[in-house]
Amino acid sequence: MRLEKIKLAGFKSFVDPTSIPLPGNLVGIVGPNGCGKSNIIDAVRWVMGESSAKHLRGDTMADVIFNGSSTRKPVGLASVELIFDNSEGKAPGEFAKYREISIKRQVTRDGQSTYLLNGTRCRRKDITDLFLGTGLGSRSYAIIEQGTISRLVEAKPDELREIIEEAAGISKYKERRHETELR
Ligand code: ATP
Ligand code: MG
Repeated sequence: MRLEKIKLAGFKSFVDPTSIPLPGNLVGIVGPNGCGKSNIIDAVRWVMGESSAKHLRGDTMADVIFNGSSTRKPVGLASVELIFDNSEGKAPGEFAKYREISIKRQVTRDGQSTYLLNGTRCRRKDITDLFLGTGLGSRSYAIIEQGTISRLVEAKPDELREIIEEAAGISKYKERRHETELR
């Protein structure tokens, strides 16, 4: 699966509906300080189920909603959608047959979060399951931010093991075993 497009509306500084195409395997996003580059990464992390406001550089989850500027009023809803190209059919299970896979998350000021998978409402878990073992996912190694490398170098053996298990595709089986044991 390849990330093809990011669509945002009401998310942090992206108040108006914005569609960011990612046409190649190497895409650079450049711009002056504070123009919203990191907000795009926050959006990707958020739609994949990030539930910690701190990891999104905010205090509460509602901080992802556009909170107004000198010329614009705050809005009540933030939404982010990722569109993946799945023409190689590598998405797991029933999703293998779709050429495109869309995951979407919306949140309102009262904290109501909704997730959609190809337009159908789903649980957060359905989204996290889709990416388990792929290296993508809200806290996975596919997103390397400032400080990530030094965290890797300084990681404790247990943390390092988690990263290696995700890369080796073992984490999804561990997660399933854990769920079975809880039943
Ligand atoms: P740098 O080059 O310094 O890393 P950047 O392009 O990564 O900058 P971001 O951190 O993505 O910039 O964007 C910061 C901007 O987003 C700030 O101007 C901040 O006011 C704005 N912002 C963050 N959250 C919200 C929000 N909820 N509503 C409106 N604007 C927001
Ligand atoms: Mg930044």
